[in-house]
Formats: sequence, structure tokens, C-alpha cells
Amino acid sequence: MKHEIVITAQGHKGTMERLQAEFSAIKLWEAPDRAAALKAAAHIRALAHFGHSKVDGKLMDSLPKLQIISNFGVGVDQIDLGAAKKRKIIVTNTPNVLNECVADCAMSLVLNALRKLPRSEEHLRSGYWATRGPYPLTTSLGGKVMGVLGLGRIGEAIAARAQAFGMKIRYHNRNRKKVAYDYDPDLVTLAKNSDVLMIVTPGGAATAKLVGAEVLDALGPRGYVVNVARGSVVDEMVLLRYLQEKKIAGAGLDVFEHEPNVPAEFFTLDNAVLYPHVASATVETRKAMGDLQVENLHLHFAGKPVKTPISA
Ligand code: NDP
Repeated sequence: MKHEIVITAQGHKGTMERLQAEFSAIKLWEAPDRAAALKAAAHIRALAHFGHSKVDGKLMDSLPKLQIISNFGVGVDQIDLGAAKKRKIIVTNTPNVLNECVADCAMSLVLNALRKLPRSEEHLRSGYWATRGPYPLTTSLGGKVMGVLGLGRIGEAIAARAQAFGMKIRYHNRNRKKVAYDYDPDLVTLAKNSDVLMIVTPGGAATAKLVGAEVLDALGPRGYVVNVARGSVVDEMVLLRYLQEKKIAGAGLDVFEHEPNVPAEFFTLDNAVLYPHVASATVETRKAMGDLQVENLHLHFAGKPVKTPISA
């Protein structure tokens, strides 16, 4: 007999197929009457979660037998970890399998923000190369300082790549690490010491709007912000104003505060590179993330320790 699970939202196609083939699944987002679906699921012990919708104490209480929340993705800012801990519910995520892909994407934002490669391609496609001449000179990566805010699993993968591009690395975490990179004890100092501020902390209340006016002032008019963390870590309206007023040199953004809605003012900026939250979006990485999500569920139902638990 298949174990029963609740799936919160439509997710990655291959993973949805596995979840529905290997478990007996209630699809919460398709239920015409959500309250009735949750009532029918009151005996279910496992939740597979995708996307941005909140998994809060209220949802946990409507599934009183819940033992595990298996999240697709490393970021769990949408899950109330305190509420889960209080109810002794295990939360798992999908770390490490996406480090390299996210780091590749982060470096492409650095390259595209400094070298303006998408805009130079636009110059060619618009016929301007022949009519107006060469694209204006841009900014080199080599010799520049990348300040990593959040030198964790992904931050370290980004730092290794940035070094290969000839960049120097500094970082700020709440806790200093045993790494060869220089540590700045506070974020403003990191920004002051950086040409590129690379944001790769978790989201959630603890990091909300960490990067605001004071940090951007410290970064200065020759500095760039790259955010692959969560939109919530940056004060988006302040960043927009600083880009419009050229108070910083540019930005590369994969994440936004209210995805998929991005303030239209960003679209007109010539000093920002914008991606629709694609840092982990490759066939290989999304499959690896799904495999880990499914494996955690199977391990739990088999009475074994899960592979990637999160502690609140
Ligand atoms: P890790 O937990 O390995 O690293 C997070 C780092 O951030 C740690 O070094 C931590 O150090 C630091 N940090 C946490 N809070 C603060 C703070 N308040 N101030 C300064 N530093 C802080 O996580 P990962 O590297 O695996 O993932 C990081 C985040 O990247 C995810 O949580 C997710 O939000 C985002 N992400 C985005 C993706 C995308 O598609 N754009 C894809 C994957 C992840 P310390 O505890 O010492 O402060």
C-alpha cells in the first residue's frame, strides 16, 4: 500500500510525477474546497511543499498527524520553522545539489552587470554596431573585490568561481569561518570594501531588508549589487531609487520581493540585469532537488533518519 502525502502546490514536472506514482497524494491546490480537503487529509503524516505559499502553524494544525514537511528547494523562509519545531514536525530541504548551478548563475549576473553583455548583444541586434559604431567600454572583473554576504554552501561555490575570474574575496556572516578569505565583522564595512556585493543569505525575518540605504551608500557609485538570495533581503524600493539615480553602478538580480511581480520601473533601467528566479533552473539540478525531496519522504516513512533535516 502506498503511503499518503499532501502536496501543497504544482511543482517541478518530473518530481510531481514521482510523488504521484510513489505515494497516494492529495493535491491541495486543486481542491475545490481547501478546508474540506484538509479535513479529509487529517490523518496524513507528510507534506511535500513547493513554491512561495506559506506553511504556517494554522496549516500544521489542520494536519494534526503531520510528522514531516519535505520542501523542494534549499530556502525555507516560507515555512514557519518555530511552529514546526513546537509541533515536533521534521522539516527537510534540498541543499548542496544546487550549489554549482546557483553559483554559475550568480557569476553570469556579475559578468552581465559589469560587462553589460546582454545590452551589447542588443546593440548588435538593433543594427547599431554598423550604424553607430562599437559598443561603449565596460568594466573588468579581474582585480575587483567581491564581498559575499552569506558565505555558506552556495556563497563558497560563488567565491571559488569569482577567484577563477581574478576577483578578490571578502565576506560577512554572523559567524566567522575557517576560510582563507578576509572577514568583515559588519555588513556596512563589507560593502565599503567591495566592488561587487554578492547577496546569498537565507530569506525570512532575520535578514529582511538587510541591504538598504546605509549599505548601498557604503558600496558607492562604482559598486554593484548581485542578489541570488531572496528579494526580501534587499530594500527593493531603495535599490530601485539608487539605480535610477546612479548612486550605485549597477545590479544583477535573480530574486524579487513579490515574485513573479517585478516593479515595472526596473524594466527601464540600463544598469540592471534581471532574471526571473532561474538560478537553480536546469533539468539536471531540478531533478536532483526533486530526488532529494522524495528520498526524504521515503526515509521518513521507512522509520529512518531523513537525509537533510533543518533545525529551527
Ligand atoms: P547556507 O545556510 O549554507 O548559507 C547561508 C549563509 O548565510 C551562512 O553562511 C550564514 O552564516 C549566512 N547568514 C545567515 N544569516 C545571516 C545574517 N543575518 N547576516 C549575515 N550572514 C548571514 O545556505 P545556502 O548557501 O545553501 O543557501 C543560501 C540561500 O540562497 C537560501 O536560503 C536561499 O534563500 C537562496 N537560494 C536562492 C536560489 C535561487 O534560485 N536564486 C537557489 C538556492 C538558494 P551565519 O549563520 O554565520 O550568519
